[in-house]
Amino acid sequence: MITQLSAAELAKKIASKEISCAEALDAHLDRIEKLDEQYGCFLAVDRERAYEDAKSAQAIVDRGEAGPLTGVPLAVKDNISTDGIETTCASKILKGYIPPFDATVVTKSKAAGMVILGKTNLDEFAMGTSTENSAYKITRNPWDTTRAPGGSSGGSAACVSAELAPLALGSDTGGSIRQPASLCGIVGFKPTYGRCSRYGLVAFGSSLDQIGPLTRTVEDAALLAEVTSGHDPMDSTSIEMAPISSANLKNGSLKGLKAALPKELFADAINSGVRAQIESAIEVLKNEGVEFTEVSIPSIEYGVTTYYIIAPAEASSNLARFDGIRYGPRSEGKGHINVVERTRAEGFGHEVKARIMIGTYALSAGYYDAFYLRAQQVRALMKQEFDKVYAEYDFILSPTSPVTAFKLGELVDDPLALKLLDFCTIPANMGGMPGISLNCGLAEGLPVGLQLLGAPLQDEKLLQIAYGVEQSLPNATQRPQIP
Ligand code: GLN
Repeated sequence: MITQLSAAELAKKIASKEISCAEALDAHLDRIEKLDEQYGCFLAVDRERAYEDAKSAQAIVDRGEAGPLTGVPLAVKDNISTDGIETTCASKILKGYIPPFDATVVTKSKAAGMVILGKTNLDEFAMGTSTENSAYKITRNPWDTTRAPGGSSGGSAACVSAELAPLALGSDTGGSIRQPASLCGIVGFKPTYGRCSRYGLVAFGSSLDQIGPLTRTVEDAALLAEVTSGHDPMDSTSIEMAPISSANLKNGSLKGLKAALPKELFADAINSGVRAQIESAIEVLKNEGVEFTEVSIPSIEYGVTTYYIIAPAEASSNLARFDGIRYGPRSEGKGHINVVERTRAEGFGHEVKARIMIGTYALSAGYYDAFYLRAQQVRALMKQEFDKVYAEYDFILSPTSPVTAFKLGELVDDPLALKLLDFCTIPANMGGMPGISLNCGLAEGLPVGLQLLGAPLQDEKLLQIAYGVEQSLPNATQRPQIP
């Protein structure tokens, strides 16, 4: 079946003309039509535009110029701008907003002949860990539809897991690519900060945000990272480097690699089912010749606390632009201030408002030094501690999430518990380093994600290691039972 193929396999069949770009698109659109009511992955699907993209892709194929992802349908998280397709960030405040431009990652995907399938659900403005903060719909985990897909890129993760799309783009500020990938049993890759342009990504925490792929194989993640990364003058934090190369993805060996196991990422909070799967993966990798050493990175303990100051502080500034004047719907009111107040009161959901208030507070006179400045100092310390580990080790291994997919509704009334789940993923954003999650087995029938972290700018090396790990783990690419 077309929808079961990996993106790399599908692209090969398209390049050899065994499958046309329109057929590849049809297969996925049909499946979305039949099943997305059940899963709730997509906020928008623009069939007409998708067929236009497929036509341009077919022209590339017919000229004999097909690349490694030409003709492959791509789902895009709805905080990434798409020219002509509504982009809401799953917020009422952007309802009906149609960007007049494509994010750089979308421009690059189209140039590579990819076909934009639609926009996926997320926690409002990417703030959350379960996708339940969407103003529009609930997304369900394909492994068990009573459970959350994780978040905030829950729609992207669930649609790839349920084979509604071969691959998707997400964004990761504190774990939003890796954690939903983990809960949905797929691969999620956050590149080094600055390797993938943020131009056109609706900003949440600008110093932490990074776009990256959600896929069913490490190879697909590497291919999509290659297509979407590279220097972009439109993003002042974009690094002047060539795109992430997949050329040597399969040429590495795990033998003799040194891996660090930070004891703080194996804290008691890791549930026993998750721990068992990670430990058995470590055993497999030892047999492949990886040398493991337990290390300590003390600042990790302060990761969640400091992240939940820095991210809201940046968000409070970034979200000031949503005032009902420039984008989206405008509430009725008397005078400018009243209109803006009402628009923001009616347009933002609870979690977003809470973060704007926390962030504004942390930045305000008298509190800046106590909160924001201190958080930045911890961040700098954390980066130093990680750099020391990377000077000695090739990579860091840990669980991605301390738990498997939890029930929908289970944690909505406990935002603190939900935030504490982020402790394994936050360090990669604080230190700008690349991180990847891949499936390593099941605990009580639910996928367990293994996280690998690498030194900043060593994206290629990390992907190569992840490919080796995927090949050696017996359960890395197992699929849920889906219709
Ligand atoms: N769960 C984290 C938060 O709520 C991370 C979100 C993200 O990476 N976008 O902020």
